[in-house]
Amino acid sequence: MTVEDQPLPFRIGHGYDLHRLEPVAPAGEGRPFVLGGLAFDHDRGPVGHSDGDALLHAITDALLGALGLEDIGQLFPDTDPAWDGTDSRVFLAAALDRVRHAGYVLGNLDATVILERPKIGPRKAELRRTLATLLGVPMERVNLKGKTHERVDAVGEGRAIEVHVVALLHRPADESAST
Ligand code: MG
Repeated sequence: MTVEDQPLPFRIGHGYDLHRLEPVAPAGEGRPFVLGGLAFDHDRGPVGHSDGDALLHAITDALLGALGLEDIGQLFPDTDPAWDGTDSRVFLAAALDRVRHAGYVLGNLDATVILERPKIGPRKAELRRTLATLLGVPMERVNLKGKTHERVDAVGEGRAIEVHVVALLHRPADESAST
């Protein structure tokens, strides 16, 4: 059954992403550190086919997952040179188009970023504002939590970033009122 056959009033989606963090080129294969569409000053950056924005990738997958669609890696394969270095806002915009096309709007979104460095705390409000703008919702509907990995494993050693996101979609209020 597709989304269109029998629309649910709500749909929930989960997104997860992990990227290795390597010294930024030319010292290593890391790309400049970008998270939630914002540039951060850091000596390591994500290894990825696109710009490696793990937060935008996890949000994109949460939206696609809520719709029951293929994930970001299937829609934008890393074997396709067209996506080399792509700004991940492109992927998010494509997922939002699918949300609208399926007749849903984003309710709220909750993200957990697990990262040793750089610290996102000082820029949390800026990140939430930026995400809210990209998603077209008020800032209050976007929550963001930063955690460390207690210095254990690759994430805790600063060699990777991990992001979890849950997102809730709903039918627009005016539409449900008319049914
Ligand atoms: Mg990714």
